[in-house]
Formats: sequence, structure tokens, C-alpha cells
Amino acid sequence: MRVVLLGPPGVGKGTQGRRLASERGWALISTGEMLREAVTKETPLGLEARRRMDKGELVPDDVMIGLMRERTKEPDAAEGFVLDGFPRTVPQADALEKMLKERGQQVDAVVSLNVAEDDLVQRLSARWECPVCQRAYGATAAPKQRGRCDDHPETELVQRVDDAPETVLRRLDVYRRQTEPLVEYYRTLGKLREVSGTGSVEDVFASLRRAVNGAPARS
Ligand code: AMP
Repeated sequence: MRVVLLGPPGVGKGTQGRRLASERGWALISTGEMLREAVTKETPLGLEARRRMDKGELVPDDVMIGLMRERTKEPDAAEGFVLDGFPRTVPQADALEKMLKERGQQVDAVVSLNVAEDDLVQRLSARWECPVCQRAYGATAAPKQRGRCDDHPETELVQRVDDAPETVLRRLDVYRRQTEPLVEYYRTLGKLREVSGTGSVEDVFASLRRAVNGAPARS
């Protein structure tokens, strides 16, 4: 299956997507993660994306569409994938529909995760991430050892540059203007499932699983 996770920054797309993908044996494709890796490696993509990411703005559609066209063709994505952070605009969603259709594939389900906006701001400012495996920690998912990843205790957790309070507000604004219209876009296509992102990681995952299982399953 091919699943899109939709929702504002901080709603838990990465955490939930990682679990879903590993449970089903699908690829987790996180565009934010791919871009951050490109920034660290200072590739041409990273150099182009960095300034916009640091300001909480979107990377241009043509760059993102080209990136996804290649990534979704990789062998690990053949059985299915979970998209975290793509599409983020209507042109990206149109391009995704088109590129999958050309391959005789489609997006099978789009899960929209929702939490109250005040919670998002709080979650993002309390978010810490493992630089090795990108696992996110926060108030509802504390590490066993303070400041250390459970799976890589030798590494200190870090905060993302774009989780700074003023950048968070900018990202939420960009989300409302450019990404939220995709909720109606996918509702119209009959693909939307809505899930509350409030509660423990386990509870949200149980709802996500129900939402994905309820989607018409096509390989
Ligand atoms: P995320 O980790 O999903 O919050 O993404 C971090 C940043 O990467 C975003 O604020 C954007 O600058 C950029 N980004 C990630 N995915 C996309 C996308 N699909 N389109 C444009 N920019 C993106």
C-alpha cells in the first residue's frame, strides 16, 4: 500500500510513520529527513534547500517532485511506502497522482493527523531528536536516559534549528496556507481518513492502524 500522512508540523507524522512502515515492511519516505541529510552533506540540493528550511519556508515544488520521482522508484519502496512530509502543496499532490498512475500505482490512503494548535507549538519546542536514527522524543515520549537516544545512548539528542519558536509559527502559517488545502483535495478523491493525534504514541498508532486497515487495500 501507499500511504500519505498529512498534518501540521509536530503532529507526530514522523513517529507514527516510522512505526507503520516498520510494522508493514514498507519504506518510510520523509522529505524533511532527506533534505536535512542533504544539508549535512552539503550536496547541491542541501545548499539550495538550507536557507528556506531554516526560515520555515517550503523548498520549490519542482525540486521536491524530482526528488520524490526518484525516491519512490527505489527497491525498498516497491511493496509500499509511507510518505511523511510530501505532498505539501496542490502541485506536489497532482504530480504524485500522475507519477504513480504512470506506473499503474496510486495513493491508497491519506491519513490526516490532527491536534490542537497550542499543543503543536508546545510539542515542537519540547522536541528532541537523535542525530543518528532521527527518532523524536518529547513530553509524551521521553527517552529512558535524559538527553540520550534509547537506541544510540552514546549520542546526545539535538533540537532542530527550525523548531525555534519564531520559525515554528512561520511553519504553521505555511502549513495552513499551502498544505491544509490537501485535506479537501484528498477528501474529494475519497482517500481521506482522519485520526486524532492527541494521546499516547500507542493510542494514536492504534487509531492510525484502524484507519489504514479500513482503506481499500490495493498493492
Ligand atoms: P519536516 O521535517 O517535514 O517538518 O520538513 C522540514 C522542512 O523541509 C520544511 O519546513 C520545508 O522547508 C522542507 N520540506 C520538507 N518537505 C517538503 C516538501 N514536500 N515541499 C517543500 N518543502 C519541504
